[in-house]
Amino acid sequence: MKIDTLIIGAGAAGLMCAAHAPGHVLIVDHAKKPGEKVRISGGGRCNFTNMYCEAHAFLSQNPHFAKSALARYTQWDFVELVDSYGIKWHEKTLGQLFCDVSAKDIVAMLLDLCAKNDAEVRLETSVKAIEQNDGGYSATLVTGSTQTRLSFKNLVIATGGKSIPKMGATGFAYDVAHQFSIPVTDIRPALVPFTFPENRFTPLAGVALPSRVTAGAGQFDEAMLFTHRGLSGPAVLQASSYWVEGDVITLNIDPANTLMQALRDKRQTSGRKNLTTELATLLPGRLVEFLTDELALNGNLADQSDARLRQICEALQNWQLTPNGTEGYRTAEVTLGGIDTNTLSSKTMECKTVPGLYFIGEAVDVTGWLGGYNFQWAWASGMACARSL
Ligand SMILES: Cc1cc2nc3c(=O)[nH]c(=O)nc-3n(C[C@H](O)[C@H](O)[C@H](O)COP(=O)(O)OP(=O)(O)OC[C@H]3O[C@@H](n4cnc5c(N)ncnc54)[C@H](O)[C@@H]3O)c2cc1C
Repeated sequence: MKIDTLIIGAGAAGLMCAAHAPGHVLIVDHAKKPGEKVRISGGGRCNFTNMYCEAHAFLSQNPHFAKSALARYTQWDFVELVDSYGIKWHEKTLGQLFCDVSAKDIVAMLLDLCAKNDAEVRLETSVKAIEQNDGGYSATLVTGSTQTRLSFKNLVIATGGKSIPKMGATGFAYDVAHQFSIPVTDIRPALVPFTFPENRFTPLAGVALPSRVTAGAGQFDEAMLFTHRGLSGPAVLQASSYWVEGDVITLNIDPANTLMQALRDKRQTSGRKNLTTELATLLPGRLVEFLTDELALNGNLADQSDARLRQICEALQNWQLTPNGTEGYRTAEVTLGGIDTNTLSSKTMECKTVPGLYFIGEAVDVTGWLGGYNFQWAWASGMACARSL
């Protein structure tokens, strides 16, 4: 059997590419259903893009790499596509756009586009024995007990990263890269909760509050959440992409810098009240209880000098913690790192050293912030590849 293009991986990037690529296109996936991560994303409503999508929201060894594809297929292009299918959406926060009804609408849209483009989607199919030859490539497709040898001009790898192996994530893209001597950067789980020794935050599990979380060069003002095993919530997940093993992270749980004035005001009006009781009207009670020993909080408000109140507030704004790890690929939303961008054309996603071989989506060393950026990269890189094919 002979086709023009084989796309491996029917996720966000692969489906986008198949929906727009010319010629005879076959897209295969070993999963039972296509676009499973799209379906479960954003709590079932898919945060499909971000209004403020720009290159600074992406991590990569080459911060310029993503610019070309993102500029040639923007968030507004995807919004236009979504609108053309009558899919209703809303901005939740920080430019994050979600479906009003269901992420399934996005999967259905992508599949309809594939059907209109005559791209064949073949599921429960794995690929082995990829070989390069004069006219392009050949590979064996395995569907159940049926094996088919296939020849094709172009090979697009859209198998994503390693996050959530339970959903079918594999290191397939890195294996193909290895086969063709294409470098892969260090990879690790990102957008992932932190863990701490001895589950020290278990008493606080479920407590959420606005915060500023800093790790390395990353600093994020959003909600954070204490969990049984450590820290999570948007600000923490964002910071995890900038964290390396052994690094300290800093929590500022008074990011608006209002606590000092509020405590001074309370000292005026309710000086005879207990410091911890009054602090618990400004911060979650369980957190104040937890911090009572740690910060030696005691006495009435009237007993606290300005210097002492400042010391407490500064401690809450500069709470330094060293995670002992992360929850890993089991729960990470993305894989940081991937196919080295130096080996790819930023315009087409084709390997510079291996003509006809393309990598798109999360497999590439381009990782977005939380908030619709990773899907926008999947759409944009899938489209860049499709246009070049
Ligand atoms: C729980 C969760 C929620 C998320 N929510 C959001 C969100 O709201 N907004 C956002 O922007 N991003 C979100 N993300 C990230 C986003 O899902 C990914 O960045 C995006 O799906 C990457 O697209 P992709 O096409 O590169 O890979 P994927 O969508 O992961 O697709 C890869 C496909 O390849 C298939 N595959 C893998 N290995 C093989 C193999 N060996 N053979 C055949 N097929 C294979 C897989 O089955 C899969 O269908 C979320 C991720 C998770 C895990």
